[in-house]
Amino acid sequence: MFEQHDTPSPIVAGYVRRSSEMQKDNYSIDAQKRAIRDAARLRGLPEPLFFEDDERSARGEQIANRPEFKRLLEYVQANPGKVIVFVHTLDRWSRNVMVTLQSFRILSQSRTAFISLSEHIDYSTPEGMLQLTILAAFAAYFSDMLAKHTSKGKGERAAQGLYNGDIPFGFRGTGQKSPPEFDPDEFPGLRMIGEMRMQGKTAEQIADAVNAAGYRTGSKRFGARLFTIDTINAITRCEFYAAFAPGDDRGTVVYKDQRFRGQHPAAFTYEEWQRIRIGSRLNYKAPQRSEQSQRTYEFSGYVSCVHCGLNLRCKGAHPGIEYAYYKDMAKARGYDCPAGGYLQVRTDKVMQQFGELLQGLRLPAYWRDMVREKMMETAKKAGLDTEAMEREKERLKLKRGRILKQHRDGYIDDDEFEGEMAAVELALRALDMPEMDGVRLEDIIAAGERLPGMAALWQDATVEERREMVMLIFEPGGLHYDVETQEIAAITPRPTFLPVLRLLEGVTEYQEATGTLVTLRWQQRNRRDSNPRSSA
Ligand SMILES: [Zn+2]
Repeated sequence: MFEQHDTPSPIVAGYVRRSSEMQKDNYSIDAQKRAIRDAARLRGLPEPLFFEDDERSARGEQIANRPEFKRLLEYVQANPGKVIVFVHTLDRWSRNVMVTLQSFRILSQSRTAFISLSEHIDYSTPEGMLQLTILAAFAAYFSDMLAKHTSKGKGERAAQGLYNGDIPFGFRGTGQKSPPEFDPDEFPGLRMIGEMRMQGKTAEQIADAVNAAGYRTGSKRFGARLFTIDTINAITRCEFYAAFAPGDDRGTVVYKDQRFRGQHPAAFTYEEWQRIRIGSRLNYKAPQRSEQSQRTYEFSGYVSCVHCGLNLRCKGAHPGIEYAYYKDMAKARGYDCPAGGYLQVRTDKVMQQFGELLQGLRLPAYWRDMVREKMMETAKKAGLDTEAMEREKERLKLKRGRILKQHRDGYIDDDEFEGEMAAVELALRALDMPEMDGVRLEDIIAAGERLPGMAALWQDATVEERREMVMLIFEPGGLHYDVETQEIAAITPRPTFLPVLRLLEGVTEYQEATGTLVTLRWQQRNRRDSNPRSSA
């Protein structure tokens, strides 16, 4: 019999459920209640509390569709060790194995006894409680297996080039096992977004334009909505649209940071996607290319002499001088420069060298975390209460885990799940976005994500495009060049690019001048011959 450890009299909870098939026979709600009342009395237990669901009002066995069943499970969890649950037959409780196991797990965890009269199941005895524990273990096992199967399924789909999740804007579904296709209504809007991005328009300008053109971003969950800066940014970051490889007409499926060749058509060519990621004006400056290349130099205003600190002046190619140069004007202007103040370097050489430096960018897999950690460290030094933030984050992560589990166990329905998850994600995002010196982590991440694209484009880009990248990456005078040894000595990037470029192989940061990254090659050479250099 039920052991009365801590409570003088246990609570009897009767669960009854109406069913269309059962109405004919004597197991009506009243009959179920009467049988439970009699059984409780026979065992010397108090009058039962009844929880009553109407099967006809809700389809299926899902816990979420059975409000009283759900309330009963909450009730036993709120009263651990105090409740005995009675049902008339097991199928009134649940006809779904998973739901049965999950509910038994909850009963077991809250030390709740369970009795089903018709099957003579009595989990109120010590042996019965043990059986319930075993069933609960099965529940946990099956639940884990199910989760594994689901994610395995997703990985397999991705490997086959099939997309997981909501169909991205501009495409429409063609079935579970076939790839999405262009949506004739939305696709022109998608192209418009990409092309405006290639023209260097801001997310806000693009959102305004596509909204004005009548496009809406829609999902089954939220319905048609206006484009925002966030949705535009998400679209121009979604690799689904990008050709898998140069010359490939198929798109890309990304799963767990791995790229797969999609079965769906690419919305943008590989080259277009590189431009979209940079937001450069490649196409639209092309007509002016020839006249401009006479006057534009990538680093003009951004390259300086590492010895005297003066900006190097551009000396253009013209009849008589074959190449363009960046020249140290210290001597001509009457300043002292340890390197003589008159040396120069060819512009194409500097271009080449910076391209090599950029191509040496190998971001570690966890660079986003590394950047974030570094930021938190700085925030801590600045007196921000990072510990409280971390605690709140931990709490939110635990909550997210609980919501996932509750949903997996059928304890909350899809709508509730979506809502709760969105709220938690939002709160987590807010905590993930510390701001230091007016730079947001989000912007740093965005800058970091653009760098590989820039590195890939650098050699093939026009002078104007490279100039734009330079202006984005560097502080004025931020490329410190050694005109004597003809190499890049150090760089001072803009604050958004600094945290990521800090992770570049082959650079180190000046301790006394944070913000400037010195190339190790130059540092070593400079250390070696820094003294005898005065002969120059
Ligand atoms: Zn100089």
